[in-house]
Amino acid sequence: MKAVIKRGAFPGIEVVDMPIPEIGEDEVLVKVQASGICGSDVHVYEWKGGYDWLVPYLPVVLGHEFSGIVVGAGKMVRKVKEGDRVLARTSVTGSCGNCSYCVSGRRHFCEVHRENLTGWKKNGGFAEYYKAKENGVILLPDEVSFEEGALAEPVSIGGCAVDDANLTIGDSCLIIGPGTIGLLTLVMAKNAGAGMCIVCGTKKDAARLRKAVELGADKVFCTDETDLQDMVMELTGGQGVDVVFEASGAAAVIQDGVECAKKATGRILLEGIYSREVSLELSNAIVRSARTVKGTYSGRVAWERTLSWLAYHREGAAQCAKIITHRTNIKNAEAAFERCVKKENIKEMFTSFS
Ligand SMILES: [Zn+2]
Ligand SMILES: [Zn+2]
Repeated sequence: MKAVIKRGAFPGIEVVDMPIPEIGEDEVLVKVQASGICGSDVHVYEWKGGYDWLVPYLPVVLGHEFSGIVVGAGKMVRKVKEGDRVLARTSVTGSCGNCSYCVSGRRHFCEVHRENLTGWKKNGGFAEYYKAKENGVILLPDEVSFEEGALAEPVSIGGCAVDDANLTIGDSCLIIGPGTIGLLTLVMAKNAGAGMCIVCGTKKDAARLRKAVELGADKVFCTDETDLQDMVMELTGGQGVDVVFEASGAAAVIQDGVECAKKATGRILLEGIYSREVSLELSNAIVRSARTVKGTYSGRVAWERTLSWLAYHREGAAQCAKIITHRTNIKNAEAAFERCVKKENIKEMFTSFS
């Protein structure tokens, strides 16, 4: 089968031929149908920093946002069967089920889960076939398409950020960075009852900012043309927004972003991954302003809730799917990654694999 691998600690990816995985008694074989390229895959492709932890696990098949059909199941497998439509969890084994994270529904923080990360520490879904333990896959509701299933992971990140922000009806929001995570956060915030939603990016993000408008943004602008704080203060009568979602991972924008939140009640949710350390003035921007800064990284029973949302909120799911701009054969992975680097796409998915 064809697969996209990261070979070593240097830029690039490779499309290789490799054997179809053989499954054990407690494993399932999935024929991948849709597999999205994540911003983090692009970081790994570019290899500019932030992913040194990956080195001991290389080479590895990348890809952690995907869905497919079960085409093989070992004799111990009980929860899924051949022909089932499934979504890959972000761990090939699932989680332990017993630790404090698992029992409180925060499985993403379980050590067992983290040791078996799909497409990072274990072979993932940029391939024609994928194998996992049965707990490493989850059934796709009938309503949810393969492509929507492949979006479930970034949708869950946006949804969890909205949860973590304690967003309430009418809250004004600033979303920094109109990539996949920023746009899906916009969709989830709007659907959760947000008031004015402002989205900003850079000149390179022109197409993504147009998409933000299509998805319901009330105001979009480029921070290289207009001062971020000036614009937000103007739009909010000098008060700032209730919630800032930082989805760009751009270190240069954080200080300004933090100061765009209201004093005392403003929340700043950090969703981006930064390729370097960030310095921040804390005393005035956070302490004396009593703002809340919080990291957000998936959350409570993310998959089940996200799939339920996609299944029972079909208009919302259709909005999410609008961010898919390119569908590609895995053989052309190099060109797909280059489009990501140049921001010529928004979400690109591999949808054919041979
Ligand atoms: Zn991802
Ligand atoms: Zn656990």
